[in-house]
Amino acid sequence: MYIVQVASECAPVIKAGGLGDVVYGLSRELENQGHTVELILPMYDCMRYDHIWGLHEAYLDLMVPWYGAAIRCHVYCGWVHGRLCFFIGPQSDDRFFDRGCYYGCSDDNMRFAFFSKAALEFLLRSNKRPDVIHCHDWQTGLLPVMLFEIYKYNGMEYQRVCYTVHNFKHQGMGGSEVLAATGLNQAAYYFQYDRLRDNFNPFALNYMKGGITYSNFVTTVSPHHAWEARFSEEGYGLGHTLHASQARFKGVLNGIDYDVWNPAVDRYIPHHYTADNLNGKVKNKKALRERLLLRDSDQPLVCYIGRLDEQKGVHLVHHAIYYSLSKGAQFVLLGSATEPGINNHFQHEKQFLNNNPDCHLELGFNEELSHLIYAGADMIIVPSNYEPCGLTQMIGLRYGTVPIVRGVGGLLDTVFDRDYDGTKPPEERNGYVFYQTDPQRWSRLSIEESVSTNMHRSYLNNWYFKGWATTILGATQAKTM
Ligand code: ADP
Repeated sequence: MYIVQVASECAPVIKAGGLGDVVYGLSRELENQGHTVELILPMYDCMRYDHIWGLHEAYLDLMVPWYGAAIRCHVYCGWVHGRLCFFIGPQSDDRFFDRGCYYGCSDDNMRFAFFSKAALEFLLRSNKRPDVIHCHDWQTGLLPVMLFEIYKYNGMEYQRVCYTVHNFKHQGMGGSEVLAATGLNQAAYYFQYDRLRDNFNPFALNYMKGGITYSNFVTTVSPHHAWEARFSEEGYGLGHTLHASQARFKGVLNGIDYDVWNPAVDRYIPHHYTADNLNGKVKNKKALRERLLLRDSDQPLVCYIGRLDEQKGVHLVHHAIYYSLSKGAQFVLLGSATEPGINNHFQHEKQFLNNNPDCHLELGFNEELSHLIYAGADMIIVPSNYEPCGLTQMIGLRYGTVPIVRGVGGLLDTVFDRDYDGTKPPEERNGYVFYQTDPQRWSRLSIEESVSTNMHRSYLNNWYFKGWATTILGATQAKTM
């Protein structure tokens, strides 16, 4: 098959989180399976140009209809670690992708509506007719709408769309200006409930709802989250839309690229290792401590890597730092916050813990350091409030770093509690799962209480009663890698 991925990220050239990893890894895997895959991405000014090989002009003067006129785009082409990528570069005063950031602008909805339109226009004008266009998240939600309402009648009648939702929280909203800009027009038609009208705000058009409604198939990134999205508040108001589309909606578990994330060859870590010989992991731990100026000792090292965001359970991340330190472990955090309140909070913590030889908080995005942390830490915490899939626990497993996760979404599809999982034989259990979100509650649980009330999954209990990670690590590492 000929598949075109249209997305706002592709690692490592454009990566804000797991979306980038998955778009790259999935494309590579599809190619390995014999399909032809191309990617269409925005040409951001701040992307990692050093990860693009052979960048050249592929289509000059692509005129993309916009507000009844047109915006001139140059489309560039290059290889990102073997994947053929087309980058859409608009040449207008809007400077859609020259903002020094990927997301977070007040006109994000227009930036990505334009991107979706430009991607279709590029396919049309360059005579590319993929069998499947695979769209990702709200940024490309309008693409299937425009394909089936406009481009289908201009020579793209055979294209089919798969739409994958990586995070239901961010849905993309707009008003009638989006319809005017994209040429969809007809407000009365699109503001109908069974089309794009938001399920709760009658004055808003919902891009993600459009993606779900118009696509031929819709997936989300884990089976458990597919259930949550339909039957709990994790669908962020789209439960009914998913219900109406249930025959073409499914959860497909994300994966990681085992060649990108491989401690045997990882170029960002100083010592390579495999499940059969973990000496390199011990050396990486030492290297990590040296790099972050942490005390060298036999303490276990706990880490958190990820966005600092309500979704990720930041109050539990905060709690885990101090709990780890109080129990004699070291803690390393690598994360970035987009919300000023959360950012300030962790900046303050960083300052407060600055001279602590057992703790380091690194606030920002640092791909290279993340690899060293995965390789050097003993345990990784993922205490998310909700988690569509989560990649950090999978990367942790690949690096022999035991995941301690909250039992939600894809974390439940990938981590099986060492002590209490009833679905897997002991040798297939690979981490720790807890459910509570209240740190006070964790601290007060006794093991008797936890067993008798079936609230035994608190990882703090596991830490406290079962001994420290060195034991856990020895027992579980081999089977997790
Ligand atoms: P998200 O909800 O952000 O997509 P995932 O767990 O699915 O979370 O994926 C997170 C990806 O982003 C992982 O590859 C992780 O290593 C990476 N990552 C997250 N935060 C950072 C950071 N501050 N620096 C480097 N890499 C990060």
